[in-house]
Amino acid sequence: TQALSIHNLRKVYGGGVEALRGIDLDVQQGDFFALLGPNGAGKSTTIGIISSLVNKTSGQVSIFGKDLDTQKSEAKTFIGLVPQEFNFNQFEPVEEVLINQAGYYGIERRVARQRAERYLRELDFLDKRRQMARQLSGGQKRRLMIARALVHEPQLLILDEPTAGVDIEIRRSMWTFLREANERGTTIILTTHYLDEAESLCRNIAIIDHGQIIENTSMKRLLGKL
Ligand code: ADP
Ligand code: ADP
Repeated sequence: TQALSIHNLRKVYGGGVEALRGIDLDVQQGDFFALLGPNGAGKSTTIGIISSLVNKTSGQVSIFGKDLDTQKSEAKTFIGLVPQEFNFNQFEPVEEVLINQAGYYGIERRVARQRAERYLRELDFLDKRRQMARQLSGGQKRRLMIARALVHEPQLLILDEPTAGVDIEIRRSMWTFLREANERGTTIILTTHYLDEAESLCRNIAIIDHGQIIENTSMKRLLGKL
């Protein structure tokens, strides 16, 4: 099954910036996929479009066979997104951030609470569950974003620079968590500008530059070329 299929995707922002110049991308179910590229390449725009946060200019996108133009709400339920900015309510206890998010998906409170507990434990900060979100460290906030993205158990987890600004120890534990989530069957796409992160985690990779895919191959083959 194809988790993500993108065909000839273009984005021109209001100011005239051509952020995506006709990209094609396919990600298979179960893959751990990296979108690598320098700042301004078009990574955030791509995942913004996939997650329906940014309007595309033209092209086709489908998520597990659901077309974003005609079946947007179905397509959206497949996705858990971890954006770069911390956009949870800073004045809620950690656990409530997760339970409220589950509420948007109609998940009952009891189930939501169990999931919250499970993800907080797996991400190593269950002890912070009653703290205000704003009191968390940067690395903990980043992990809260990941837990929140998973609370409706999406098939496809998309992370935008998940370890930017996170210290090395936390970074490694996040990598372990993501590997396990992938082994349990979640398809993962992440953007990064660290090749070592892509190398350590991902099976397949696309390199994007100036709004174009300049390489799309397996991690193994790419490393063989370098
Ligand atoms: P969309 O087409 O997705 O609705 P817009 O083109 O309307 O996006 O832009 C959204 C907002 O982002 C605008 O208010 C714009 O001024 C602002 N913006 C402009 N340039 C940039 C930039 N380089 N990075 C981030 N935001 C920008
Ligand atoms: P990346 O995530 O790879 O750093 P982006 O997708 O954020 O790249 O940006 C691609 C290009 O689009 C850049 O030139 C950026 O300045 C521009 N851009 C991003 N968001 C906006 C926006 N909202 N309005 C106008 N231009 C934007």
